Amino acid sequence: MNRIAIYPGSFDPVTRGHEDIVERSLQFADRIIVAVAVSLSKAPLFSLEERLRLLNEVFSGESRVEVRSFDGLLANFARQCDAHLVIRGLRAVSDFEYELQMALMNRRLHSELETVFLMPAVDLTFLSSSLVREVASLGGDVGAFVHPAVERALRARFNNDIQ
Ligand code: ADP
Repeated sequence: MNRIAIYPGSFDPVTRGHEDIVERSLQFADRIIVAVAVSLSKAPLFSLEERLRLLNEVFSGESRVEVRSFDGLLANFARQCDAHLVIRGLRAVSDFEYELQMALMNRRLHSELETVFLMPAVDLTFLSSSLVREVASLGGDVGAFVHPAVERALRARFNNDIQ
């Protein structure tokens, strides 16, 4: 059976929390498509190309992970990919309401699409891309929260070689 799962998000940038969710998903999915959403209301720190490049670098050792971008409805992208699973991470109760709405809407749009929620390792539950961006922008050390390639990209972006 070829169980394909889509893990959608902004990944601005990818963190150890995202990596943890992908690793967990590989235990029940045969292939994971990490799908970077093109249409964002907020302006991202990293361009789509940069986010894709960093994700490709982070998951370069994992042949079952593919990195793609998508525009428009996730339900349509899932059909194109022949995927019936959507992976989302749940960190806190605050994530839940929005995630529930999205999951139910996606199921209305594509009745065979199931959303699976995964909890990360407990020490990653506080981690978010926005917090990483904020700490890096203020010159803090984010080495424990992101892959070295992402850390380099953040340093270059904030011109911040001395920590
Ligand atoms: P989005 O803008 O769609 O929330 P993100 O890149 O912020 O995109 O997150 C993508 C998914 O990864 C979401 O389901 C989010 O809850 C999950 N996620 C982000 N950070 C973590 C983390 N530290 N632990 C677990 N899940 C996470």
